[in-house]
Amino acid sequence: MAKVSPVKTPMREQPAAERIRNNDEVPFGYSPQEAVLEAKRCIMCKNPGCIEGCPVEIDIPGFIRLITEKKFKEGVTLLKEKNILPAICGRVCPQEEQCEKKCVLGVKNEPVAIGRLERFLADWEAEQGEAELPPKPAPTGKKIVIVGAGPAGITAAADLVRLGHKVDMFEALHQPGGVLVYGIPEFRLPKEIVFREINYLERLGVKLYTNQVIGMIKSIDELLNEYDAVFLGTGAGLPWFLEVPGENLNGIYSANEYLTRANLMKAYLFPKYKTPIVRGKRVATVGGGNVAMDCARTALRLGAEKSIIIYRRSLGEMPARNEEIHHAEEEGVIFQLLSNPAAFHGGENNWVKEVECIRMKLGEPDDSGRRRPVPIPGANFRMPVDVAVIAIGNSPNPLIPNTTPDIETGKWGNIVTDPETGKTSKPGVFAGGDVATGAATVILAMGAGKTAARSIHQYVMNK
Ligand code: FAD
Repeated sequence: MAKVSPVKTPMREQPAAERIRNNDEVPFGYSPQEAVLEAKRCIMCKNPGCIEGCPVEIDIPGFIRLITEKKFKEGVTLLKEKNILPAICGRVCPQEEQCEKKCVLGVKNEPVAIGRLERFLADWEAEQGEAELPPKPAPTGKKIVIVGAGPAGITAAADLVRLGHKVDMFEALHQPGGVLVYGIPEFRLPKEIVFREINYLERLGVKLYTNQVIGMIKSIDELLNEYDAVFLGTGAGLPWFLEVPGENLNGIYSANEYLTRANLMKAYLFPKYKTPIVRGKRVATVGGGNVAMDCARTALRLGAEKSIIIYRRSLGEMPARNEEIHHAEEEGVIFQLLSNPAAFHGGENNWVKEVECIRMKLGEPDDSGRRRPVPIPGANFRMPVDVAVIAIGNSPNPLIPNTTPDIETGKWGNIVTDPETGKTSKPGVFAGGDVATGAATVILAMGAGKTAARSIHQYVMNK
């Protein structure tokens, strides 16, 4: 047997100094030769842990074997049986915590680069032209409405339309895609890829209506009069704030607003797009997740001379993906660790001028298993800033629960569902993704969309 390389086949990418001057995607992806080389590192375990580690149970060794045989078309077909968005998941899934974590090669060396291979197949398919459609199913005569066009809604819609149901999708924003378009920046996930997937969905027969805020234009009860079932995939778009003095000063954004202006409203293309955004020289982002990394890296691309992450724990506890932390470090983002804002101080016309932080130390682990940050009394310090972005989390928007009083909600405003079926407390209404779990991941939202689609199918067929 040929000797297996201990490390992943490297993926070429834009050099850091160059990429912070543009918004283009950072990694270039594998060539067919690189993909085959990497695929050959897989030792084809008898009991592959990688499938177990994948929330949607993709036949990972199956598609990897097809890559080694250069059967890329068959590889994509196999991949898409379980995952309708492989070009997206290959780019943004936390593989190091999922499939790659369970790869046996990872015990001693680097695991197989499963995410990069998934991305390769999806990109290869796109290069061949329009994706082939599956045969049209016989119509069931049932009508289903999907509320929210993020990964949960897209997956549920795709599965349901392929079962022969008529599927309508209502999206509040002027563009579909959810966080994939308004949150995750272009340099991590080119929007063209998201629109390609949406286009595929429409070719499958899903009717998409944008600028439709459900709860305002129509209630869930009104939808239930028109449709056989409702799926809620409305995400978690309500930002949390620190609730410290000075947080209302000018120049302080929620991560949602900052990224929406930069991405969806294309502020980075000024003056072609006139969206205003404050371009500070010193930008502080508060938080340690993927959202915070995206904000800090966006700030550099908008011209910040210093982009600082303020995080209350240490690097080891950061929830962001390793790759995002690594890319942020390479690009020059400064990590102000074990620090937490205690107040913001303003200058002329109430513009933010300084952030006052308190130093923290790590105490005993909390419910999340991570060591709890404990403030060090009197250890306050100030840093000059002219923009601050708060990226400490989100919860579901309360609009639908508020206008649907008989739907049960949880402690964080999430819609309560049975995770095995996606059923809510209201008959005929199903939900999944961030609206049910709170802010999580793309693949978990897709998994929830799939689960709900299965039980919606059973529900409408037995109605
Ligand atoms: P969303 O993607 O939020 O989509 C919900 C959709 O519903 C939105 O389009 C919204 O406009 C619409 N909607 C809301 N209310 C209504 C209404 N009343 N009527 C009609 N439509 C409505 N996950 C990863 O796996 N990897 C990453 O690298 C990663 N990075 C992230 C970076 C950022 C900046 C953010 C914010 C999140 C990131 N995530 C990442 C998390 C991931 O994007 C989410 O978990 C995922 O998008 C959730 O999918 P969803 O379909 O449940 O909701």
